[in-house]
Amino acid sequence: MQKESCVFCRIARHESPATVLYEDDLVVAFEDIHPFMPVHVLVVPKQHYDGLDDDVPEQVLGRCLRVAADLAREKGLERGYRLQVNTGVDGGQTVRHLHLHVLGGGRMPSPEL
Ligand code: 5GP
Repeated sequence: MQKESCVFCRIARHESPATVLYEDDLVVAFEDIHPFMPVHVLVVPKQHYDGLDDDVPEQVLGRCLRVAADLAREKGLERGYRLQVNTGVDGGQTVRHLHLHVLGGGRMPSPEL
């Protein structure tokens, strides 16, 4: 199911503009609109899930990870990268549609304790 008002559902339906890098039956990946690293890609299930706490099929989670790693390689991130899934208010999630951040192109700061 998708949500009419959800910005990532709208991107998945090609109703809102985005720089789409990859798309298949389960996921779509596109450039973050406000990148905070030289490479900042979002990998998003086409189905709407609010976040990781939803009952997300393992196939969808696995595809997200596979696509994220493949895109990191395509982006030339041989020195490494970070995958991040912000979850809920305390996790800093601002868009309530499950997404993986693919971050790289420079030394990542250590995670805050
Ligand atoms: P969160 O804080 O929820 O983990 O991350 C949401 C991310 O989505 C942010 O990095 C933000 O810049 C990005 N974002 C929010 N709205 C849009 C949009 O309309 N298009 C794109 N491409 N990225 C968006």
